[in-house]
This record gives sequence, structure tokens and C-alpha cells, in this order.
Amino acid sequence: MKIYIDGIFYEEKDAKISVFDHGLLYGDGVFEGIRFYQGKVFRLQEHIDRLFDSARSICLQPPLPKEKIIDAALETIRCNKLNDGYIRLLITRGIGNLGLNPAHCPHPTVIIIADSIQLYPSEIYEKGLKVVTCATRRVSAAALSPMVKSLNYLNNIMAKIEAVQAGAGEGLMLNEQGFVAECTADNVFIIKNGKILTPKVGAGALAGITRAVIFELASNLGIPLQEADITRHEVFVADECFLTGTAAEVISMVELDSRPIGEGVPGPITQRLTHEFRQLTQRTGTTIY
Ligand code: PMP
Repeated sequence: MKIYIDGIFYEEKDAKISVFDHGLLYGDGVFEGIRFYQGKVFRLQEHIDRLFDSARSICLQPPLPKEKIIDAALETIRCNKLNDGYIRLLITRGIGNLGLNPAHCPHPTVIIIADSIQLYPSEIYEKGLKVVTCATRRVSAAALSPMVKSLNYLNNIMAKIEAVQAGAGEGLMLNEQGFVAECTADNVFIIKNGKILTPKVGAGALAGITRAVIFELASNLGIPLQEADITRHEVFVADECFLTGTAAEVISMVELDSRPIGEGVPGPITQRLTHEFRQLTQRTGTTIY
């Protein structure tokens, strides 16, 4: 596997960065996870726009303009001769001293990894995910905006540990007010009486790229969709529930805290959206070769 670091492709064993990079010392940096399907990168521009927004929010000046980062991402896939897979694109704060001050890190580092992706097994897509509510709350937007996709994922990792310990496929995270924010690496949607509801990004959710695609698909299919404050109770009594994310795509959530949601199997609207999403990933995207 060839890995891009600041304009050079390295073999995996040689792809290394400094121990003084603040991405390592402090989780100071931003990243994106991007999928490509059958030689086309899905929603590439949207991911790059979000990356640059994350960077701007933390006062990190990307060392390359958007077009050059796009070129580098495409070149990394070509270099690895991949057709289907996942790109991990990072901009770290770069090398500094042991202090926090990013002003001592003049050169941010761009890292791009393109690999094949390990999805949930197809059985989980057919049967749906079992999820538990995590005691770890989503970090308050007043402390650190969940809109920034930063390299500091400890909040989500703490919740993921709880989910894994409970033997669940994902962990539901609530915000400080007790409303549903998102899962550890996915956005959450519920369906009640034919209407789709999802937390506002202000409730502690990342503005997911897949989430935005669901808004488009729902609108095309004439299914009403609304942002709302959602409680655990509303998830328990929902007809259907599903999660979205670049890696997971659209996946049904059939149980929360041992309570089956709806019939306890993937519901018809979720199945429809999963199908439409997959169609879209096959049809659209930035051509790689
Ligand atoms: N929330 C979090 C915390 C995530 O890490 C992700 C995955 N990037 C998502 C939601 C889903 O976002 P997207 O659809 O852009 O992958």
C-alpha cells in the first residue's frame, strides 16, 4: 500500500510522521473518511468542503488549496490501483514543541490513506443493529463543536468502549440535555407514522454527508423529513430507526437497550432508503481513472 504524506508516496512501513506532530501530541488536526465505489468517489467535493470548514474552525490553514487536495486524493487511489474502497484524509497541525500553542507549528501535514474497507457483515444489514445508550454524553457544542471533524475522537471512543463492552453494534450518545445526538460514528434517524425525524446538528451531531444524502432521497421520494429534539423514549416507540455514515452507509437499528424497535427487523422505509442510497453510490461520483 502506498501512503501520501505531503506530496510523497511512501510504502506502508516507511509512512511515518514526527512524534512532535501535534496531531499525535494533542489530537490537533482534522480528517475525513470518504468512500469510492466502482471507480468513482462519492460526494468528494462535500467531504473536502467539510474538511476545510473543520480546518477553518480550528484556525488550521491547509497547506494546499481544495483542488490540489482533491488531485492528491485521486492520485492516492490510482497509485494503489483501487476501484472500491475508503480514503482517510488527515490534516494534522504539524510539528511543534511540547507546548499547546499551534503558532509553533508552521507546517501542517497532509496524510492520505486509500484502502479497501471492512464493512459490517451483510448479515447485519439484513437483520439490523442492536444498539445501547452510552453513559458518556456527547461533548457540549459550547466546549467543542461536534461539527468539527477533529482528530480528537476520545469522546466517541469512550462511548464506543461502552458499546463494545455491552456487546452492541453501536452506541447511542445523548447530549447534555438528554436528547439524542448521534451514535459514536453515525448519524441517527427515526421514523414514526411515515415521517422521518433526525436530531439537529446543534443537538451534538456531525453534519454527516450521508445524512445530507438522506435529506435529498427523502425529498425525492416524497417522504416528510424533519429535524427535531428526540428522546430515548421516542426511539423506543419509533416504527423504524436507522443510522447513516460513510463507512456504514444506511443501516437499520432494530433494538435499543434490549427493546425491539418497531417489529425488530429492518422496516420498509429504511430498506427503501438503503436501496436508493446504494443506487446513488453506483451512479454518481468523481471519476478516478
Ligand atoms: N457522526 C460521527 C461522530 C462520525 O464520525 C461520522 C462518520 N464520519 C458520522 C456521524 C457520519 O458522517 P458521514 O456520513 O459524513 O460519514
